[in-house]
Amino acid sequence: NKMLYNDQIVERENLINIEDRGYQFGDGIYEVIGVYDGKPLMLDEHLVRLERSAREVQLNLPSPANELKTKLEELVAENGLNEGIIYMQISRGAAPRWHEYPAKDVLPVTIAYTRAEERETAVEDEGATAVLAEDIRWLRCDIKTLNLLPNVMAKQKAVENNAIEAILHRGETVTEASASNVFIVKDGELYTHPADNFILNGITRRKVLQLCDSLNLKVNEETYTVDDLLKADEVFITATKLDIVPILEVDGKKIGTGKPGPVVKQLIREFRALYMDETVK
Ligand code: PMP
Repeated sequence: NKMLYNDQIVERENLINIEDRGYQFGDGIYEVIGVYDGKPLMLDEHLVRLERSAREVQLNLPSPANELKTKLEELVAENGLNEGIIYMQISRGAAPRWHEYPAKDVLPVTIAYTRAEERETAVEDEGATAVLAEDIRWLRCDIKTLNLLPNVMAKQKAVENNAIEAILHRGETVTEASASNVFIVKDGELYTHPADNFILNGITRRKVLQLCDSLNLKVNEETYTVDDLLKADEVFITATKLDIVPILEVDGKKIGTGKPGPVVKQLIREFRALYMDETVK
């Protein structure tokens, strides 16, 4: 099994310096990309988001995104990965431990590896449950940084309650979930938190918005409350690899009929057709 280490594909081993800033400060950015039929899905979109994250934290990417793209495709081929994910992170590099950014000659450290993972179609078809958790994160959730401790704590709460996700709220406002975006459906219209500093603008979220557009489904990129969520006709989450999962129960309260609704079912169908189109090239 191979990994990408800076610009080289090498045998996977532990090459990380103990003073790597990703390790010590969570000072870095990352992406998780789904791989279907040996092809990374929406890779360009992930790389554009990576470039944006880098800009927002003033991290100079060591190589242009198109070079990174070639390397990631090479890695997937080297590892013979058919279905799974690519994990890629870029830290600000290794330097003596001081909080401020290190000297300009300290280069960022890029790593990427793959993990084989089957698609969980059962959970898409049958749905899952979620819990609520207060969103205790910082005010730049739009940047995909390595600082995930609040997300980790929220997901732990979900798992301890046999739920797939923790849906986060800041006061009354639903933001997103610990590792996914949240949509609700009410009277035939969809609602999802606007892509501002309070959420990560998911690649899957954006695809769902495009799909809704082509299906003439009205989406309101507006905030909504916990009460709206609990009274919704349908609730679903979106994320890489999970794709679209209906949420049938939140904190033990049944959503709508308690079964996957017509809107989410249609979106799952369309989404499957779409990535099959993209990967069959
Ligand atoms: N929000 C958060 C907090 C996430 O970590 C993720 C990614 N797992 C998402 C949303 C979904 O983003 P994407 O569709 O790009 O995977």
